[in-house]
Amino acid sequence: MTDLQDLYQELILDHGRRPRNFGRLEDANKTAEGYNPLCGDKIRVYVRVAGDLVEDIKFEGAGCAISTASASIMTDALKGKSRAESEQLFKAFHDLVTGQQPGPDTPDLGKLEVFSGVSEFPTRVKCATLSWHTLRSALSGEGEAVSTE
Ligand code: ZN
Repeated sequence: MTDLQDLYQELILDHGRRPRNFGRLEDANKTAEGYNPLCGDKIRVYVRVAGDLVEDIKFEGAGCAISTASASIMTDALKGKSRAESEQLFKAFHDLVTGQQPGPDTPDLGKLEVFSGVSEFPTRVKCATLSWHTLRSALSGEGEAVSTE
């Protein structure tokens, strides 16, 4: 294993153990639930969208280290981004974990790069992308509406 892989592994384990932005977002106006039956990962994503901006984002759920770390790093990466930027990151992240060549307009993935090794483990791809698919469902409004009560 190279040092870089060690570092990636460490970051994933760290976020898996101590996820950032974990918990319910009380003033969310979008939410959706996701489930990965292959592994048993469950997640609920809460987003507060203002205009075109993802103002705040949190998640809760239970899953393996990969799914938890992915959700944790995703929420960090998307806070303050526009919907269009979020969509671009989703595509870039999806290409990364499925081992596809990045396109010419691929945005900088930053910490999300740590998931590049997932492409070698096809069964883990769903763990890594679960939070993203759930977020997308929340943003598209297909997720259930949040009760304000
Ligand atoms: Zn999993």
